[in-house]
Amino acid sequence: MNLFQAFRRLVTVPNDNPELTLAQFKAFSKQVPLLYFILLTNMLSLAGTHQQSAPFWLVKVVPLVFGVVFVVRAIGWIRESRKTVDAAYAYRRLVATNRLVLPISVLSVAWSAALVPYGNDYQRAHVAFFMSITVIGVIFCLMHLRSAALMVTFLVILPFSAIMGLSGEPTLIATAVNMFLVSLAMIAIMLRHYADFTKLNEQRLTLLAQQAALQDKNRAMQALSDENLRLANLDSLTRIANRRSFFSNLAAAFEDARAREGRLAIGVVDLDGFKPVNDLYGHSAGDKVLVEVAGRLSTFETHGCRVFRLGGDEFALLIEVNEGDEKALLELGQRICDSISLPIMIGNSVVNVTGSMGIAVYPDVGLNGRDLYERADYALYHAKRENRASVTVFNAHQAKALFRQRQVEEVLFAADLERELSLAYQPIVDGRSGRTLGFEALARWTSPVLGPVSPAEFIPIAEQHGRINLITRLLLSRALREAKSWPGEPYLSFNLSPHDLAVEENVLRIIAAVNHSGIAPRRINFEITETAVMRDFDQAAHSIELLRVLGCQISLDDFGTGYSSLNHVHKLPLSKIKIDRCFVDRIDARPASYKIVKSVLTLCSEMGLAAIAEGVERLEEVEVLRALGVDAMQGYYFSKPLTGELASARLEAERGTIARMSTDFAATE
Ligand code: C2E
Ligand code: MG
Ligand code: MG
Repeated sequence: MNLFQAFRRLVTVPNDNPELTLAQFKAFSKQVPLLYFILLTNMLSLAGTHQQSAPFWLVKVVPLVFGVVFVVRAIGWIRESRKTVDAAYAYRRLVATNRLVLPISVLSVAWSAALVPYGNDYQRAHVAFFMSITVIGVIFCLMHLRSAALMVTFLVILPFSAIMGLSGEPTLIATAVNMFLVSLAMIAIMLRHYADFTKLNEQRLTLLAQQAALQDKNRAMQALSDENLRLANLDSLTRIANRRSFFSNLAAAFEDARAREGRLAIGVVDLDGFKPVNDLYGHSAGDKVLVEVAGRLSTFETHGCRVFRLGGDEFALLIEVNEGDEKALLELGQRICDSISLPIMIGNSVVNVTGSMGIAVYPDVGLNGRDLYERADYALYHAKRENRASVTVFNAHQAKALFRQRQVEEVLFAADLERELSLAYQPIVDGRSGRTLGFEALARWTSPVLGPVSPAEFIPIAEQHGRINLITRLLLSRALREAKSWPGEPYLSFNLSPHDLAVEENVLRIIAAVNHSGIAPRRINFEITETAVMRDFDQAAHSIELLRVLGCQISLDDFGTGYSSLNHVHKLPLSKIKIDRCFVDRIDARPASYKIVKSVLTLCSEMGLAAIAEGVERLEEVEVLRALGVDAMQGYYFSKPLTGELASARLEAERGTIARMSTDFAATE
């Protein structure tokens, strides 16, 4: 770069950095009005001292014209400083100012030089002062526009020095030299300042860019965390809100209802017959059913009703209700159950599931969200037991039952089971001869706090709270001991809970107890329920197989009350089927029960299974069952459950009778 190019660069407004141009414009626009103020006051002051000596046009007309130009320009720049401008505009304005510097500087110098011949020594000194102070002030004000500051310096200092030098006056020459040197120092300071300004601006820009990048990153992180939160609250299969979302929404909705003294309902929905779909058609079909049901439930979502999947085949709804809306709530619940019952197409097959629903309404019940949910769940449990495919609202009756359940839970948890549990033995008899074939061992719990508690009540609670394995172990070893002493070797029928079959370790413990007892395994019959089989078919089948290999018998208890498919029954290595009491009850007067029992018997004979009729209470029932060819019967008609001693006594008595009969027979021979 040659000297000319370097000079040109110095006196040109740079246009390669829009941000710098804008920063320059911003700083500059604030200083230009001050620059014109300096020029104006200096000029008026000089014109004032020359009023008497210089011609009219020089001390009046010229300052007036300059004054008007300076004031107009100053007002223009004050306005500019308040505007929001872009880089291109800023550049144009800076270039215009740069250009204006030349005429203003030349004219100002010319004007002040024109005054020199008219003044005395003081006045000439004032001219020198005018030029010096003006140039210093202007350089300061133009600091942010390097080109303009340099131009002013050259355009004023050089002629000024020439004029002062030519005057021959040593004071003025000294002033010019002094001024020249000070100007050089000022230029050096200005250039450094300009360089610092540029650098600072660049640093500011880098900082801004870093800040912007950081903000972008933060925004991306926020979006990612929002998405994670959304996914964490979404059920991955059905894409509706999940269990976690339900409980957080429940807590908030409950607090809201409490604060506004409003009402809030929770609906818990559970599918009936979902497991068989999974087992028969496979898990992907089961998934499709869940997605379809979630879709159907979602159609009920309104402003006040939100749907969630709690897991498995369980869904929940949060429903805002108004006072007196109970009927509408029940109707909504029923419509939901009805919508689930509609057939579902899986490929070319039609699948049918139904849904039961339990509802609890705050403030009728519920101390907090969890509590309200538990009550809805309890109502669901009732709906499933008594009122499938329909809706049940938690009511006073259930509140009482729930209170009792909690009480039993508490007492059972602290109970000394070893001491408080006992067994009763109910005979299973030959339908024709009435002879005892075996005994079903039935658990009895006499609590010092609650008195006698039915196994139908405490066994499910023990199952829920993981105490059933201990109960099974305890009672099985006792029953085996008792059975060992029975004369005539009748079999022992022992009820197993689904939990006993669900874990192989439990089954192995049962096997060890049988082996340890010294009783022939063929004399032991385990009763399992359909629920145990349906919960995890493969595991249940494996457990049953282990017990069968040992040589034990297996009965399917309460047959006909559960939801197992015959297909499953067929696949299990069963020995007996116990026909539930509900089909035996007044079978003589109920053609439907008669037909069912008849077909179950056909099934049993086809599958090579023995049949036992449970809950036989009346002679008429015995007669019908006999006529149908039922092998074995159990019920109050024959005997209520007996204590261990009475069971033994019954066997002794039967042995005595048989012995007497054979003696009588021998005597008649
Ligand atoms: P389950 O195995 O079906 O037992 C038969 C139930 O029917 C017994 O009730 C018995 O007393 C009753 N029963 C027998 N004959 C008649 C009759 O003619 N009429 C009427 N109305 N009832 C009759 P219990 O002893 O209250 O047992 C109820 C249920 O508790 C049992 O039903 C069984 O599922 C369960 N359970 C009892 N003991 C045990 C046990 O040791 N372990 C397990 N896991 N469950 C048990
Ligand atoms: Mg039983
Ligand atoms: Mg039974």
